[in-house]
Amino acid sequence: MSVKSQRGTRTWYQTFGCKANQYDTERMRQELEARGGLAASVPAEADLAVVNTCTVTSEADRDARRAIRRLAREHPGLRIVVAGCSAALREAEYQAMPEVWRVVPGQDPEAVGEAARPLLPLGRPPRGGQLVSLRGNGRTHLTRFRRGTRAWIKIQDGCDRRCSFCATRLARGASRSRPPEEIVREATLLACEHPEIVITGIHIGQYGSDLDRPWTLAGLCAQLLDGVEAVRIRLSSIEATEIDDSLVDLMADSGGRLVPHFHVPLQSGSDAVLGRMRRWHTREQYRARLARIVSRLPYLGLGADIITGFPGETDVDHAETRALVEELPYTYLHVFPFSPRSGTPAATLPGRVDGALRAVRARELRELGLAKGRSYRASRLGMAARVVVETTAANGEPVARPTGLTEDYLRVEVVTDGSAGRIQPGAVLDGHLEGDADRLRLRVATGRETPHRR
Ligand code: SF4
Repeated sequence: MSVKSQRGTRTWYQTFGCKANQYDTERMRQELEARGGLAASVPAEADLAVVNTCTVTSEADRDARRAIRRLAREHPGLRIVVAGCSAALREAEYQAMPEVWRVVPGQDPEAVGEAARPLLPLGRPPRGGQLVSLRGNGRTHLTRFRRGTRAWIKIQDGCDRRCSFCATRLARGASRSRPPEEIVREATLLACEHPEIVITGIHIGQYGSDLDRPWTLAGLCAQLLDGVEAVRIRLSSIEATEIDDSLVDLMADSGGRLVPHFHVPLQSGSDAVLGRMRRWHTREQYRARLARIVSRLPYLGLGADIITGFPGETDVDHAETRALVEELPYTYLHVFPFSPRSGTPAATLPGRVDGALRAVRARELRELGLAKGRSYRASRLGMAARVVVETTAANGEPVARPTGLTEDYLRVEVVTDGSAGRIQPGAVLDGHLEGDADRLRLRVATGRETPHRR
């Protein structure tokens, strides 16, 4: 018997892509642990690897294949299970890779558990004990994230829109929402371990419309604020046109518990390009919605995704995007040159923009985003902020120079006057922002630490 197998099957998890994927990986980990598996801290101690792939760009597909080959090369004998969006769209390609042991097309944790079953001591999860109590309606609840002080909770999967560039929708299917009571139950469990929960999904603005008794995202957030104590809630990416007044009012009146941060995909500031992207809104509808949101909140972390060089994008179209970015108070941008995804309508559109020009336009907007971020951080100097201390060393020990994430999504160094005690990862701290725009610090007021219950 090998040293590894004497220790029990250990699994290394590698995740690509979005926060929904990170959540899915944690569900897979919990499923394998329920079947007697253990998590590996490094690939070298693992018998099994689960690679949860992404397909948002062709780069993401390439990254996953590269990672699989590298894992197999550096760790001969490692059994590799490939799951996720790229596996859903390219199942046969992964099956054909000699490095791959099993392919699970999609994110179903039980399917991953079944794929790994020959290596797991308990086979199927036991019926009894804590696990059964967590399996309401045949579903499981995630109870903790293994790494990090923040947790993600996936409230829905899939999307009913038809953006012409999007392969994620092809991989994930139509929008399916989880019932609110199941989400509140899971958030209650996660809040025992994590001081901040990020609400995630593939299209969270569509939350609840498919349920027998329709719900809204604002209704769900209100339920979470009421039903889950001592945790702050952040929304992940949401479409600007789907942020209604009730959600903004809830954020404004939540005393910072629903944090002032929106990540609102723009994709393009040109109506002509938005039309070819099959987006459902115009430039003006997006702009007007954001103007109203911004007017309601004293300050706001505001991010956006932008695609440069979409087929047919002219210099004028790009200038319109640039002008809109200049006008709106973004605090950061994620800019990607267009990458055609096979199977999507955009892959066959005429008017391909030269790759170098796509990259130039992306660089220009990234620089603009950085400059706007710098000026936003300067505007926050001297103001109060609340952070969740997020830095942990690999062994879980507190580190010498802790950092934290503010409510408006600024990563800052956390400093005390020396009498405020040790700063514990997961602590929630109040203070004032100081330093400069390139290196913000939170000066913690003595005695203001609010330890998170653990
Ligand atoms: S809204 Fe568009 S880009 Fe977003 S997941 Fe749906 S189809 Fe894809």
